[in-house]
Amino acid sequence: MKNANEILEKMNPHQKINYDRVYQKMRESWEAEGLRPRILLHSCCAPCSTYSLEYLCQSAEVTIYFSNSNIHPRSEYERREKVQKDFVEEFNKRTGNNVLFLAAPYEPNKFMRMVKLHNLENEAEGASRCTACFQMRLDIVAEKAQELGYDYFGTAITLSPKKNGQLINEIGLDMQKIYAVHYLPSDFKKNNGWKRSVEMCKAYDIYRQCYCGCIFAARQQGINLKEIHKSAVKFINKTDDKK
Ligand code: SF4
Ligand code: SF4
Repeated sequence: MKNANEILEKMNPHQKINYDRVYQKMRESWEAEGLRPRILLHSCCAPCSTYSLEYLCQSAEVTIYFSNSNIHPRSEYERREKVQKDFVEEFNKRTGNNVLFLAAPYEPNKFMRMVKLHNLENEAEGASRCTACFQMRLDIVAEKAQELGYDYFGTAITLSPKKNGQLINEIGLDMQKIYAVHYLPSDFKKNNGWKRSVEMCKAYDIYRQCYCGCIFAARQQGINLKEIHKSAVKFINKTDDKK
């Protein structure tokens, strides 16, 4: 399977890298060889996974990996996990794809320990706490992809215009140096990906969160976490009742 570095080596190092272009070149190489790779794709809630799945499923077999111990509180974590899982099921029903869903254990203490150890509590959103958070999650995804024998690991987060896609791809490429699985570069917001994700969220009636996930960003944003907890519990109970 194509390693992204083979493509990156041929690109101009002085220009900003278009990671969607890198992905497209990888896809061309799969098509030329008649391959349909298996990808473990990290996602932290359903919105970023909508268009990312639509795009990747054209050429690959995808499993969504929900691995987000950064999310606080637990009830919100459970709501996002449920929304993600339900979206995958509905996406398969409507499109005839066979996307799989896996979830990592929820271990918020690991995230909190990491933040406190490096004094990252008061960092602004987008600064070094987020870098560490991406590293933590991509590390878990790469390890799982290696364990389960996937061809690639990647993340749907590059769809979000609020996230630093260049940084996320650099972290993923660094991560592949220590695991026996390739990183899949992406920039899902390209090709009107963000716009398409908004359309898909409407079409699938998907819950959109109002803060990234951790307690620190929520506090900085002035989010009322008690209200989040209440509405998350209500959501979970309502969907349990429907069963
Ligand atoms: S980056 Fe934001 S919108 Fe995208 S999946 Fe993560 S929490 Fe959801
Ligand atoms: S703001 Fe989002 S990406 Fe940054 S540390 Fe918090 S949960 Fe992680």
